[in-house]
Amino acid sequence: MTTHREMIKKFGFWHQSLILIEEMSELTKELIKSKRRNEIEQRIASEELIEELVDVEIVLEQLKETIIEREDRKKIYLKYREMKLNRIKKLLEE
Ligand SMILES: [Mg+2]
Repeated sequence: MTTHREMIKKFGFWHQSLILIEEMSELTKELIKSKRRNEIEQRIASEELIEELVDVEIVLEQLKETIIEREDRKKIYLKYREMKLNRIKKLLEE
């Protein structure tokens, strides 16, 4: 069992969903601070911003593994991922 699956098994999907919401709000706060300090434009992302980015990624990966665990759900996930990435590519070609 992966570490992500173990976390969901130990704490539960909905508990980790609340953790994701909490982590997203922490990332939001750091993004706003970075914008205020013009850090992104200067390519000097703060350590706090990077830490919150990692927190969101990890919890999102945990939920994602559960959400698309079944093969048929994974197919839907991949369909939308491809569709949306293609839309972005087209937008960039305009
Ligand atoms: Mg955090």
